[in-house]
Amino acid sequence: MRPSPIVSSVDLEAKGKQHGHLRLPHSRDDSAWGSVMIPVAVIAGAPGPTALLTGANHGDEYEGPLALFELARLLDPEVLTGRVIIVPALNTPAFQAGTRTSPIDRGNLNRLFPGRPDGTVTEKIADFVTRELLPRADLVLDFHSGGRTLDFLPFAAAHELDDPEQEARAMAAVAAFGAPWSMRMREIDAVGMFDTTAEAMGKVFVTTELGGGGTARAETVAIARRGASNLLRHAGILPGEVEDQGTRWLDMPDGCFAFAPRDGLFETLVDLGAEVRAGEPVARIHATDRTGVAPEEIAAPLDGLLAARHFPGLIRIGDCAAVVAVPA
Ligand code: ZN
Repeated sequence: MRPSPIVSSVDLEAKGKQHGHLRLPHSRDDSAWGSVMIPVAVIAGAPGPTALLTGANHGDEYEGPLALFELARLLDPEVLTGRVIIVPALNTPAFQAGTRTSPIDRGNLNRLFPGRPDGTVTEKIADFVTRELLPRADLVLDFHSGGRTLDFLPFAAAHELDDPEQEARAMAAVAAFGAPWSMRMREIDAVGMFDTTAEAMGKVFVTTELGGGGTARAETVAIARRGASNLLRHAGILPGEVEDQGTRWLDMPDGCFAFAPRDGLFETLVDLGAEVRAGEPVARIHATDRTGVAPEEIAAPLDGLLAARHFPGLIRIGDCAAVVAVPA
């Protein structure tokens, strides 16, 4: 396969601390021989494992970038046993635009893995991660939140995997992250995800959903910062003990999602974390084009607690309206 067109200004194998960019050539109207410049930091100390920490895989999710730009600034290679590769804004064009997908090619980075070296800008980013960053990593932490359209109970998560030993290592890393909630996660559509590619390579992969609404809260940023440091301690890369704040485990079983049956004005009837019973209305959708129409109710698909909800005031048919998770 052809090499990646992305050129790193930092030596991924060097010791010490380096700040630089992954430069992706991008020829366009306003910059003929221009580039997409993806910030990267490599902090390497004594020989040990490698952690790859990424934020803004989706461009409108902010806890990851807030935690990781700071961690890149503060981490001291002298205290590390191992290496930390930090890419705080993985889909840089999307991050700079404040959108989930890239404004260049509409690419949803987390649906384009393993990527292509001769593909779109977003596919080229995925390909570089797959072929240059993932092979170097033992442990991957990819931060997500709900973005502009969802809001989540703050949780760290790993997936159900075919290999029970790999799954156990991933769940131990989730527990070490120490979010208020920990999720054994199931995806709506796992094809093309960073997660799936990393897991297929045998990596310990931890993801998060730390809030949403296209912003970050003080609480969720604190969770992100503590979680990243905890994970590095768990891996033995940072010295010290994991700060254990206690976490509550949740499952996302089959049928945990509720989707909007129509367009309209979205009214949530219960807040995140509330206990719900199967069949109980958790939200309703009001008509916006006329008066005199009864709202349509959205029922909880399961007994459990509300783990995610649609965030904007308006909703479209087919949008994810609610997710009910089950305490494990
Ligand atoms: Zn995301």
